[in-house]
Amino acid sequence: MPWPIVGHELAVQQIRQAVAGEDLSHALLITGPENVGKMTLARIIAKSLLCKAEAETRPCEQCTSCKRIESGNHPDFIIIEPENPERPTIKVQQIRELERFLHLTPTESRHKIAIITTFESATIGAANALLKTLEEPPAYVHLFLLASNADTLLPTIVSRSQQVTLRPLERKKIARALVERWQIQADKAQRLARLSGGRLGWAVRAATDNAYLERMESAQRLLLALLVADLPTRFEHAQDLAKSQDTAQLIETLEYWLTGWRDVLLLQAQNDTGLTYTELKAELEHVAQAISINSTVAILQAVVAAQTALFRNANTQLLMENLLLDFPYIG
Ligand SMILES: [Zn+2]
Repeated sequence: MPWPIVGHELAVQQIRQAVAGEDLSHALLITGPENVGKMTLARIIAKSLLCKAEAETRPCEQCTSCKRIESGNHPDFIIIEPENPERPTIKVQQIRELERFLHLTPTESRHKIAIITTFESATIGAANALLKTLEEPPAYVHLFLLASNADTLLPTIVSRSQQVTLRPLERKKIARALVERWQIQADKAQRLARLSGGRLGWAVRAATDNAYLERMESAQRLLLALLVADLPTRFEHAQDLAKSQDTAQLIETLEYWLTGWRDVLLLQAQNDTGLTYTELKAELEHVAQAISINSTVAILQAVVAAQTALFRNANTQLLMENLLLDFPYIG
């Protein structure tokens, strides 16, 4: 019985073997971009650890245990996530509550499982509090930490976890999954697969909610407009972005800008087969010719740094102003 996961074959195979051999690490650090499938994988592992069916058919998705994990309602399973998604932070208080949960032995099964999402948003206090649990976890505990990037975490957290890295999926895998599992029409599936940047979760959401595509398109239009804007106009846009978008939305906007700058880099390397925004090829080609490859790489790094800073509760307006100053002027 294959696990119901699209792609990530090697990671899934290794984890399945560990689960079957009762040899799974007490702390898995699952990293990868937003919507690439970290939560889906963590839930499936949780289900297969707690499932009541025969070992070969776990997770069965039918038993009370699987169903209660799906609905977030299992007494031995907990998800810790930022309380305010508009300004995501994992707080020390939440880790203290988690510790209390983990120190009571399981009530219904042999394990207690916690998923902590968006772990890059944990305060230093929260990360340090978790460190104690990671050092000496009770034998029945499994922790799954989800984060976009291990580089932004405390090294002591990373070294005490087993890292599982989920990379963006190939476009054809996403397109096929959209057609076969979500019954999306083939041409729409192809387009969403191209725009998804290898993130299946994004493609599935965009297939059912047009707002995703609209936000992506407006982010690209804004990026191109910024490149021809003078400084006062850029400052206005920075103010406007900081006011009109919350942290989660800004991180998403920056993700779309990253995709645009990666396209510029691809065009500079004369490799347009992997292009995401084929609709904007002429405009992006203009940018690609106006600046050097080194400049593009520096801009990509600046956007990634801004995303990381957003998780650290930086002053958003100042951060956006600085970022927009780093963008070249292309007349
Ligand atoms: Zn089950």
